[in-house]
Amino acid sequence: MSKVLIIGAGGQIGSELTYKLREIYGNTNVVASDISFSNLDIVNSGQFELLDAKDYNAVKICVEKYNIDTVYLMAAMLSATGEKYPMQAWDLNTNSLFHVLNLAKEGLIKKIFWPSSIAVFGPTTPTIDTPQHTIMEPTTVYGITKQVGERWCEYYHEQYGVDVRSIRYPGIISWKTMPGGGTTDYAVEIYHEALKKGHYECFLSEDTMLPMMFMDDAIKATVDIMQAPKDAIKIRSAYNLAAISFTPKTIASTIKQHIPDFNITYKPDFRQTIANSWPKSIDDASARADWNWKHDYNLESMTNEMIMQLKKKYPSSEKLSKSL
Ligand code: NAD
Repeated sequence: MSKVLIIGAGGQIGSELTYKLREIYGNTNVVASDISFSNLDIVNSGQFELLDAKDYNAVKICVEKYNIDTVYLMAAMLSATGEKYPMQAWDLNTNSLFHVLNLAKEGLIKKIFWPSSIAVFGPTTPTIDTPQHTIMEPTTVYGITKQVGERWCEYYHEQYGVDVRSIRYPGIISWKTMPGGGTTDYAVEIYHEALKKGHYECFLSEDTMLPMMFMDDAIKATVDIMQAPKDAIKIRSAYNLAAISFTPKTIASTIKQHIPDFNITYKPDFRQTIANSWPKSIDDASARADWNWKHDYNLESMTNEMIMQLKKKYPSSEKLSKSL
């Protein structure tokens, strides 16, 4: 049985991954950790450690204390926040990865999951069905840290046999925990605002197409790649991963089917430049072939689920929406 440590467990993806891993491996075999107590559901629902991913000794002590063999490193500074604090983004995103790679190199842990992102691509990358292997010239600090991280993952695997596995997540959409400062955050905020106010002002233009994925699919992919046999994982940088691509205009019209009076306005800000540098759709044939990746949710089924779940959070939204 795996003994798992999740670093950055309080965040949008880390929290849902923690719930899933506790379900699979049992509460006693999963340790959640974060630099803050801000996600009280995670803190109070199982084993939790306050841990700074930048502190090698603290991470090592935690690994030894719980006899951890598998680490999911979910702590990072995301794209939009990274542009405001470039050096902090570089420090957190690269040094936290080195720490867990080195723990594996020293034999203290056996397996690592570290997420990459579509931000590894840049304006010179082909934007439609972006291939697994292609031009990668990211223009954001976040994208640079992810690209560098991918190179180091592959290097540690080739040179030291470290079993590190990675996925280039697209924008992740979920209802449990709010996103943490990325360029695709609009696709979560739009559902909350639609139900709360019937209106959303979008920070991207109406025709900005980006690759996205519902959280349940992202968690399934994360669990699947980690449970796949070692030999099946042929790419040790990071796998392209895709589900759906849409624009703010398309998601708004899907929401309108549930909330007829919903309206959207557009006021692009600095995040438009970041979005313009990223792919519109992703070719994930390698993930599908190597470890049988398959997504379940499309825009319609994701919207049904988001609205159904968020209606419970915003009971007064019943007035705005029509029943499914
Ligand atoms: P998030 O911002 O929601 O959560 C990050 C968590 O890390 C937070 O709980 C934060 O408190 C914690 N953290 C920050 N600094 C820390 C430190 N020094 N030590 C320990 N914990 C610290 O991020 P997320 O959306 O859950 O993303 C998780 C991973 O997935 C990141 O690597 C991110 O780059 C990647 N990713 C996310 C998306 C997305 O759409 N959410 C898309 C592509 C890639």
